[in-house]
Amino acid sequence: MLTVLTHDDVTELRFSTWRSRLSRMRVSAFVTRGTLFDSGFPVATPALTQWLRRHPVQAAALTHHHEDHAGGACALAALAVPLWIPDAARALVTAPPRVLFYRRFSWGSPAPLGPYIAAALPLGIEAIPTPGHTADHHIFWDAGTGTVFGGDLFIGVKVRIAHASEDPRATSASLRRIVALAPRRFFDAHRGLLCNPAALLTAKADWIDAMVDRVEQLAAQGLSDADIARRVLGSDRLGRWYTAGDYTMENWVRGVRRHR
Ligand SMILES: [Zn+2]
Repeated sequence: MLTVLTHDDVTELRFSTWRSRLSRMRVSAFVTRGTLFDSGFPVATPALTQWLRRHPVQAAALTHHHEDHAGGACALAALAVPLWIPDAARALVTAPPRVLFYRRFSWGSPAPLGPYIAAALPLGIEAIPTPGHTADHHIFWDAGTGTVFGGDLFIGVKVRIAHASEDPRATSASLRRIVALAPRRFFDAHRGLLCNPAALLTAKADWIDAMVDRVEQLAAQGLSDADIARRVLGSDRLGRWYTAGDYTMENWVRGVRRHR
């Protein structure tokens, strides 16, 4: 299902399926100045293609390689839409790693991206590296309108779960880098338009920094990652089971300790 919302000069393409709604995993892509930012998830590709045939874009840009952002890349290449892909994401989009069941259930499996036309970003829009959620994560910054297309930089203030590769300290630093730009609007891939984004991004960075301090205190006392996660972040037994240990509180703690 595709829901189209208009925010002045920005069009939001909000993709969902009954499966993604079940796991509260709706995903948005955004269009402004003839460029599509992110491309939805693999099973949303027919809806994306249908919309693009009626509303052609000149280019598309991806924030990072995850399949709910890069899932439409093949469809875009098939429509000869030039693509901007972060350097570090290219190999992961052209040969996507196998995704686990819980992600396939919600979003489908990404197809490998074949040959495509490389795009330049529109004049005045800059890609800023914002590692943490993934190493290849970028946001797109339009200084003229104070707008951020933020991918998965935010998601929520207190996101207590993480993938194994996430780096909470790097996420905090990335958040503060974007706050320093004094953004007026922030378009989040899962939350849509955030008003007053500086306050929300700062709250998230402050929360991460406070949790990192607590994790380090307990680690110094010799507690295990699992024990620290339980004490600092809470219990995620159901989520741990559903994601087969892929998106968990323990991974959040591990991310703190691995990336010192
Ligand atoms: Zn992601």
